[in-house]
Amino acid sequence: MIAPDDRTPGFGVYVHWPFCAAKCPYCDFNSHVRHQPVDQERFAAAFAAELATMRARTGPRTVTSIFLGGGTPSLMKPQTVSAVLDAIARHWTVPQGIEVTLEANPSSVEAERFRGYRAAGVNRVSLGVQALNDADLKFLGRLHNVGEALHAIGLAREIFPRLSFDLIYARPKQTPEAWEKELEEAIGHAADHLSLYQLTIEEGTPFHALHAAKKFAIPDGDHAADLYAITQEITAARGLPAYEVSNHARPGAESRHNLTYWRYGEYVGVGPGAHGRFVEGGRRVVTIAERMPETWANLVEARGHGIVDGELLSRSEEADEFLLMGLRLAEGIDLARYEALSGRTLASNRLSILQGEGLVAPVGNSRLRATPQGMIVLDAVVADLAR
Ligand code: SF4
Repeated sequence: MIAPDDRTPGFGVYVHWPFCAAKCPYCDFNSHVRHQPVDQERFAAAFAAELATMRARTGPRTVTSIFLGGGTPSLMKPQTVSAVLDAIARHWTVPQGIEVTLEANPSSVEAERFRGYRAAGVNRVSLGVQALNDADLKFLGRLHNVGEALHAIGLAREIFPRLSFDLIYARPKQTPEAWEKELEEAIGHAADHLSLYQLTIEEGTPFHALHAAKKFAIPDGDHAADLYAITQEITAARGLPAYEVSNHARPGAESRHNLTYWRYGEYVGVGPGAHGRFVEGGRRVVTIAERMPETWANLVEARGHGIVDGELLSRSEEADEFLLMGLRLAEGIDLARYEALSGRTLASNRLSILQGEGLVAPVGNSRLRATPQGMIVLDAVVADLAR
């Protein structure tokens, strides 16, 4: 496991590219399909303008990671990516070699484009593979097949120093044996990092309506818990243990950017629907941008940013968020940091109850983590501790 380093959890920059070639039926991300070509120059200029506004708010800082997420950022032209990375480097100190991740979909992968991203400074790719089974890829509404996914993985491994890919499990009728086989195959293709998510049915998505109409069923609680347990066992045995609920890596290959979120570091978010959390005037602020891409761009052009919501967090809200994020990590939380944020210690009676139930465990004298059983019911554990 990575050495805990949550006293200096970093300062990340997140950039949201909100467009996709098609909308997946399970997706509730801020992603939009446009039937006309997107004006990438306009969006690149809007990202640069919003980054300038953020720089004025954060002051000079050293960036520890950059993440281009979406949507499908691999629909961006390399020049657009380059323009965004240049704008970040104009405003803050960006040390050589920090993690710069771009999310990509296998259906939009081309060697030339990948080489362009690499030349622009991207050094890590996160591929939305989702399944290594054509029937399930079709069910998930993905535009690629297994052959294209494997081609994209091969190309990414050739061009980028670091690669991660995502799979969705707990799919309809997925047996433990089938998942075990697929996961073993995935590990064979993975370089050093895998994100493994259970299929969840989100309100407002086509899957929500289809699921409610009983057109398909997803594994129930016990079956899903078995699949989760298999996931933990196999990845640990193959040298990619979970360092977070759904994220697995070889030691040292963890996502620096996501660790900044979970270790409750600071980040600015630019682009439609992006969120940020950073310290301004000694207090942690939350920023939330307008979700609709064109409306966001209009706002940025009119006033330099697309932020439409946000708040100043109180100490106890910060402490609750710190718990919620930190207990997702295998390394757990630093109790002294919790005390510094909240101004109080965790209630010892609640801690002993949760410990007695096997849901949390101390790590030495100074840290607390959720156990594997605790991870399954993490929201309840956090709600109990935060009361
Ligand atoms: S490609 Fe990703 S962001 Fe786009 S619709 Fe599918 S799941 Fe959502």
